[in-house]
Amino acid sequence: MKTEVRKIEDLKSEVAQDALAEAGKLLRSGQLVAFPTETVYGLGANGLDGEACARIYEAKGRPSDNPLILHVADRAMAETVAAEIPPMAEKLMAAFLPGPMTLILRRKSIVPDRITGGLDTVGIRMPESAAARAMIRAAGVPVAAPSANISGRPSPTTAASVLRDMDGRIPLILDGGPCRFGVESTIVDCTGPVAVILRPGAITREMLTEVLGGVKLDPALVGAGTVPKAPGMKYKHYAPKAPMTLLEGAPAKMAAAFRRQVRQLQKDGHTVGILASDEVCDALADFVPDALRKSYGPQGDLSAIAAHIYEALIAFDDTEADALLGEGTTEVGLGLAIMNRLHKASGFHTIQI
Ligand code: AMP
Ligand code: MG
Repeated sequence: MKTEVRKIEDLKSEVAQDALAEAGKLLRSGQLVAFPTETVYGLGANGLDGEACARIYEAKGRPSDNPLILHVADRAMAETVAAEIPPMAEKLMAAFLPGPMTLILRRKSIVPDRITGGLDTVGIRMPESAAARAMIRAAGVPVAAPSANISGRPSPTTAASVLRDMDGRIPLILDGGPCRFGVESTIVDCTGPVAVILRPGAITREMLTEVLGGVKLDPALVGAGTVPKAPGMKYKHYAPKAPMTLLEGAPAKMAAAFRRQVRQLQKDGHTVGILASDEVCDALADFVPDALRKSYGPQGDLSAIAAHIYEALIAFDDTEADALLGEGTTEVGLGLAIMNRLHKASGFHTIQI
């Protein structure tokens, strides 16, 4: 299958309108379309068509028990798939939607079993991205979409990275430029007495607490050894091809710790790549060649780090690196989402400095 990439950066332009109409047509006919959102690129299918959704699992190599999130353009569309919207969900919708948050709600029977992994709930997300909502409107149905990467790999935040994983597997990629947030939506389970964060994201625990008073973290996010409630969170994920070790500790001590670890790994014959802040990358210029130092932004600038982390991970696949060292951040605010992804990308292989 030939994969077409069509630019929609200028949404009102004729090229963009044509591309969106084409996307709507493909989606209605059961085909897959990759599209930009404010978090990462999604791989969309008609969310009410079980067979179309099956193609998502096939294109990604995604385990069938890992449910898909339904993307809606507005509240009316959300009500076609959610059996009820409890008061806590109402509060969250008023505060954060459209935006980078997915609500787990009881589902209506119109939602195909194929996408819920057998659960009686469904994840619903109303993206802030105008491009994403325009495409959903063009389709006229809720759009089921996971991230547009091969299962287990880092999520794409540019159309080029989508193409890398999906070339030949899908007919169309809409290119809306780089994603603003760069990490997947915060998933909040609203089906119990208290809201539970199943996956941290750009809507932070602190922001949720302010609106709801109280919010819990899924125990699986805190300690290893518990089965996560979001089935997808149990899989190895976001992983680059070379194994990565994460260094965690005080920012001021990072550069020295990296130097020690890099020297040791090089002595053991490894070609070392580092995924770190500008500060650490600069400090390591004498030890690690340019091509093997990927910066994710200034130390402590969590928005910049979130926006660049996946592309930096993906970039190592074009290098000779056979051992990666990553720099950890704080787990406060957006840092919780960043560290969640880094822990998974490194298979929880961490050195405390
Ligand atoms: P992805 O879209 O690939 O970033 O992954 C979607 C995430 O949402 C996965 O971790 C899923 O397990 C999770 N998810 C989707 N639907 C539900 C649901 N009904 N209940 C719990 N988790 C869900
Ligand atoms: Mg994903």
